[in-house]
Amino acid sequence: MIKRILRYGEDALRKESQPIKEITDAIRELVKDMFETMYKNNGVGLAGPQVGENINLFIIDTGNGQKLVFINPQIIKASGKEVMDEGCLSFPGMHEKVERALRVTAHSIGLDGEPYEIKAEGLLARAIQHELDHLSGILLVDRISKARRFQMKHELARIAAGESLDEDIVEDNVEDDVKENDKINDKINDKGDDIAEAQKGETGVKG
Ligand SMILES: [Zn+2]
Repeated sequence: MIKRILRYGEDALRKESQPIKEITDAIRELVKDMFETMYKNNGVGLAGPQVGENINLFIIDTGNGQKLVFINPQIIKASGKEVMDEGCLSFPGMHEKVERALRVTAHSIGLDGEPYEIKAEGLLARAIQHELDHLSGILLVDRISKARRFQMKHELARIAAGESLDEDIVEDNVEDDVKENDKINDKINDKGDDIAEAQKGETGVKG
């Protein structure tokens, strides 16, 4: 079942999540629904609070089809630094540069109840840090500078009001007056696709 993803401004995103004491059928069902919801929204990760469940659980798939489930996770080691564009399913259309550790080692429990350790680098390491933030009520907007936050205040208000910043791109395309001939139209569309692809590539994480 596809879940509704909470967006910036909703209370549950700011709450501290609680440890999971037992992996019940309800948890397994929730994890299944979360993967379905994440894939539908082209996300790389999704945390419990984002679907209104304030429990220490998040999921990640960086695009290689490997479904990672993190229950009561902790980062035990972090090293290096990297700045990359980051998005979040709770901030539709927002992409901001965020500094994170380049490598992390995390301890977690899997859906089978077994503890495991994972060493991650790059995109996966970033996703783990982003999702772990969610479990403490920390959001993408808290990871950007005060000045940038001030600059973004109208966009943030729009997200909280239920809009997506992605709609800007759609509106711009509609407004483009490209009726002269089909060839020009095609050229512009191709260029648009390239830009969209480039933007996709730049966005390291959307979770
Ligand atoms: Zn997120």
